[in-house]
Amino acid sequence: MTGIMQGKRGLIMGVANNHSIAWGISKALAAEGAELAFTFQGEALGKRVKPLAAEVGSDFLLPCDVEDIASVDSVFDQIKERWGRLDFIVHAIGFSDKAELKGLYANTTRDNFTRTMVISCFSFTEIAKRAAELMVEGGSMLTLTYNGSTRVIPNYNVMGVAKAALEASVRYLAADYGPRGIRVNAISAGPIRTLAGAGISDARAILSWNQRNAPLRKSVTIDNVGSSSLYLLSDLSAGVTGEIHFVDAGYNITSMPTLETLSS
Ligand code: NAD
Repeated sequence: MTGIMQGKRGLIMGVANNHSIAWGISKALAAEGAELAFTFQGEALGKRVKPLAAEVGSDFLLPCDVEDIASVDSVFDQIKERWGRLDFIVHAIGFSDKAELKGLYANTTRDNFTRTMVISCFSFTEIAKRAAELMVEGGSMLTLTYNGSTRVIPNYNVMGVAKAALEASVRYLAADYGPRGIRVNAISAGPIRTLAGAGISDARAILSWNQRNAPLRKSVTIDNVGSSSLYLLSDLSAGVTGEIHFVDAGYNITSMPTLETLSS
C-alpha cells in the first residue's frame, strides 16, 4: 500500500468503540499506510478495541489508564522495545464526572476539577514528554479540543476550563519541542455523538443547534475529523505547529443564530 503516511508509526490513545473520534482518525491514517498501536482503558474496552485494531492491521494493543502513570510509562517502554521510535501520537482522551456536566460551573468540586484536569489536560503533557523521547526524526502530536474552551457552552462547565488549559499546553509544548522538529497541534471538533459526548447534559440539543446554525448546516463526523487529522499528522503540515484547527462545519465563526433559526 502507498500513501502519505507510508512508513510512519504512531500511537492512538482514546479509542473506546467505533463511534470514537480516535477511531475515525485511525481509519484515515491506516488508509494512507500508517502503522498503528492502540491503548485501551481497562479490559472491557480492550475487548472492543482489539477487533477494531485488527481491522486496520494492528495487533499492537497496550492497556493504559492515564491516572496511573506507571501504565503510561509501560506503554512507552513497550513501544520503544517493539518499534524503537515513533512518528506521531493522537491523544483523544477526556473525562469529567457527568454529575458536574450540568447546571452551574460554579458548583464544580475540587476533586472533580483536579481529576478532570489531570485526565483531560495534563495527561497530554505527560504523554508528549514520553513520546518526544521516541521521536528521534521529528514527529507530530495531536490532541482533541472543543469550542467550550473559549466560549460558554451550556453544561460543558469544567471540561471547558480543562480544554482551555489543554489548548495552552499545545502552544507551550509546540514551543518546547519545535527545535527538535516535533509539531504539536489540536483539532477542535464540533459536537459528535460519542460515549464521552453523551456524558454532557443536553448533548442532543447542542448537536442539533450546531447543525442548524453552522455555516455548512451539518454536524461533523468522525471521518471528517479523520481526514483533517491526516494533514496535521503528515508532512503536508510540516510548517504548522501550535495550532488549534477547527473541524466544526464553521460553527465557531458565527456570532448569532441563523435567520431561519430565529424565525422558526
Ligand atoms: P470517546 O468516549 O469515544 O473517547 C474518550 C476516550 O477517553 C475513551 O477511549 C476513554 O477510554 C478515554 N479515557 C477517559 N479517561 C481515561 C483515562 N483515565 N485513561 C485513559 N483513557 C481515558 O469520546 P470522543 O468524543 O471520541 O472523545 C475523544 C476526545 O475528543 C476527548 O478529548 C473529547 O473531549 C474530544 N472532543 C469530543 C467532541 C464530541 O462532541 N464528541 C468534540 C470535541 C472534542
